[in-house]
Amino acid sequence: ERYVYRFGGGVSDGGAGDRNLLGGKGANLAEMASIGLPVPPGFTISTEMCTRYYEDGAVFPDSLKAEVADGIAHIEGITAKVFGDAANPLLVSVRSGARASMPGMMDTVLNLGLNDQTVEGLAEGSGDARFAWDSYRRFIQMYSDVVLELDHGSFEEALEIAKEDHGYSLDTELSADDLKALVTTYKGLVEQQWGKPFPQDVHEQLWGAVGAVFGSWQSERAKVYRRLNDIPASWGTAVNVQAMVFGNMGDTSATGVAFTRDPSKGDRAYYGEFLINAQGEDVVAGIRTPQYLTKAAREEAGAKAASMEEAMPEVYAQLAKVFDLLETHYRDMQDIEFTVQEGKLWMLQTRSGKRTAKAALKIAVDMANEGLIDQTEAILRVDPLALDQLLHPTLDPDAPRDVIAKGLPASPGAASGIVVFDAETAEQRAERGDSVILVRIETSPEDIHGMHAARGILTARGGMTSHAAVVARGMGRPCVSGAGTLAIDAKGKTLRVSGREFKEGDVITIDGSTGEVMAGEVATVQPELAGDFGTLMVWADEGRRLKVRANAETPLDCKTARDFGAEGVGLCRTEHMFFEAGRITAVRQMILAEKEAGRRAALDKLLPEQRADFAAIFEIMAGLPVTIRLLDPPLHEFLPHEEAEFQEVANATGLTVEALRQRASELHEFNPMLGHRGCRLGVTYPEIYEMQARAIFEAAVEVAEKTGEAPIPEVMIPLVATRRELELMKAVVDAAAKAVFEEKGRTLDYLVGTMIELPRAALKAGEIAEVGEFFSFGTNDLTQTTLGVSRDDAARFLGVYVEKGIYAKDPFVSLDVEGVGELIEIAAERGRRTRPNIKLGICGEHGGDPASIAFCEQTGLDYVSASPYRVPIARLAAAQAAL
Ligand code: ADP
Ligand code: MG
Ligand code: MG
Repeated sequence: ERYVYRFGGGVSDGGAGDRNLLGGKGANLAEMASIGLPVPPGFTISTEMCTRYYEDGAVFPDSLKAEVADGIAHIEGITAKVFGDAANPLLVSVRSGARASMPGMMDTVLNLGLNDQTVEGLAEGSGDARFAWDSYRRFIQMYSDVVLELDHGSFEEALEIAKEDHGYSLDTELSADDLKALVTTYKGLVEQQWGKPFPQDVHEQLWGAVGAVFGSWQSERAKVYRRLNDIPASWGTAVNVQAMVFGNMGDTSATGVAFTRDPSKGDRAYYGEFLINAQGEDVVAGIRTPQYLTKAAREEAGAKAASMEEAMPEVYAQLAKVFDLLETHYRDMQDIEFTVQEGKLWMLQTRSGKRTAKAALKIAVDMANEGLIDQTEAILRVDPLALDQLLHPTLDPDAPRDVIAKGLPASPGAASGIVVFDAETAEQRAERGDSVILVRIETSPEDIHGMHAARGILTARGGMTSHAAVVARGMGRPCVSGAGTLAIDAKGKTLRVSGREFKEGDVITIDGSTGEVMAGEVATVQPELAGDFGTLMVWADEGRRLKVRANAETPLDCKTARDFGAEGVGLCRTEHMFFEAGRITAVRQMILAEKEAGRRAALDKLLPEQRADFAAIFEIMAGLPVTIRLLDPPLHEFLPHEEAEFQEVANATGLTVEALRQRASELHEFNPMLGHRGCRLGVTYPEIYEMQARAIFEAAVEVAEKTGEAPIPEVMIPLVATRRELELMKAVVDAAAKAVFEEKGRTLDYLVGTMIELPRAALKAGEIAEVGEFFSFGTNDLTQTTLGVSRDDAARFLGVYVEKGIYAKDPFVSLDVEGVGELIEIAAERGRRTRPNIKLGICGEHGGDPASIAFCEQTGLDYVSASPYRVPIARLAAAQAAL
């Protein structure tokens, strides 16, 4: 079995198609090398090795030794350097690279191969002692952190002290001798903390680093990242060993990162940052302020330091050509890492760049218009869930702003929330329901969970490609980075800026689109839905088969849903209307009434209110189907719970508090989810459903007369298990319709159907379809009843279930396609056999989940119904599922 694949110097054992085997980084390095780009030679140890390494108990098979030796020989042959040779040493980087990009999640070691001898050889060979010792101190620092897992703070401290001693502010001011002294200090730290001297054997160094990269696959932060991004642990990472090129060889050398288009707004402009005389991650680490890539960007930012276009015009021109070539080759926006060594350009990485939803949209639409991709591809390029970022409010441009600082607009969108200074607190406060802004000097991978919990992220240090910025954009969180005037005291939990002090819990607002930071909360406005968004939606609508409806019961929600392109209402929950002020008293009177006559009297009061509700919805949804579910929840939900309320309700209903308590305890249920609810209410108190049906038909006739456009009511009976239940309830609805139509002298089309939310209903769907004219899969309850898991109590164990792979995802978020899905398939099939044209839809939370929508497409349902803000997501996901 083969584990090592070479690249560079005219050899490419793999290519872009091999990302599962070589990881994204390794596959693209091989690809770049094969299309003639300048890539330092190297080799990739495959992901299969990682999997085997863990299976075998963290040991390498013997055969790997020889393969790696061949790989090193490959690099030596091309570079004419020798690994471990004192006079002419080869240095390598050891880089991780998983199948899916996990930025900043895995560890990299640079300058490997340096020891007390080779550092002298490097100094002599390059004629630059400062460079050699800088590389050595970097190597010891990284190796100690990543491989030996020593306290990296103590190394940083030693570096700071060395600078302070000489009154320097920048790392680059340290001389060769200063760095040599620092290396001695570092070696002392290693011995002190590790108990052994820093490893001088370059092969020991190499194997240590390879093991550490594989080891980092199981690090806590990698696990968290995988969990948040649905990356299976079984994928493993590859290891790339690659000849070093040096951006730290003086003023003609540099290192940088770039995007071929603006990852934040999507504009077609090169975008990036670089640092002269620097190495590796100096640019993203926020140690020095990076310089802009292009002159235009520098001018726009009003920055002084020369752009790369100005400082290194020739290399820049070459780089720009590479950008265009890579974009055409990969037909996507690329995120690139490069290094310039003494005026020569080297490519170190390329991958499809992470981007904001706004940029994703613009880039997809632009690329389709440019002819780089077709419309279908454009539709597939945008993650439906990411649209969420665009559908939510932004800061009202006219609202007053109390601006306290300005940083970089690192990730767009606006967020208000309380200030917190660490990830743990962010998580805790968010769990308690607070909106949180995580404020850090800079972020690191340890902060990921806090960033996820926060509404927004604010940092004092770091550029547009800093960790905070990249991660925030990926997560869709607004972020302002590099707000340099913030004085953050993370321990004391205070933030001082512009002569003011903010403590943990104080409210601030950040605008990730402008970089502004404001005291207090700022008003927001609704998003703009035209432009690229509109274009892509038109394309998506052309491509999809499934109809998309909304779960909505208020006129406002219906309006929002229609603006977002909903093609009707898939679920109007009537009980929400019962809770409204002014009505709840009548509802309670109805519940408390001993006899039918009392119930009817109370229902008469509710009738005009319900009619008005339905009329408003029918008018907004003119000409579109509206599915109305008759009363579903157990009645005691409408009764008071607090002591004070009892007296109030007693006064309003004319009952004694005692009688009220008595009735409440009669209505108490041990397991209300499976109790007296759904059509069981209609079976026992038909007058409730009768009133609701009457309200529906009266409203429908009223709206038809008023607007000339007849609404299409679909009356839905909840929690049906048997044909007979539906038959009884349909009779009630039909009788109400008949009565209303006779009174008004006009008829209209309507349907009566049922929710399929009990396993029995799914199994007996053939019979139920004899009565029901449509099925709507109520997948929230169907998931609860199929899995036997109560959604409200699942939080305690479901996380562990997902972690242990019992369910791939939270089954209440993404449909359990295997189990619940099979019931849906059975019901759809049996329902259709009885009634070939039966209308089939889904109205659970899953109706807005792209993976579940893909299942609905496969099963041939007619529509999905999602919450209003999810409607565009569902439209796009439905198109993707169909293409
Ligand atoms: P990550 O996946 O965290 O981006 P990388 O493996 O890309 O880690 O390494 C981080 C940085 O180290 C790169 O962006 C590059 O600047 C630098 N680097 C990696 N390998 C080399 C190399 N062979 N020569 C010079 N710099 C390198
Ligand atoms: Mg890294
Ligand atoms: Mg990288």
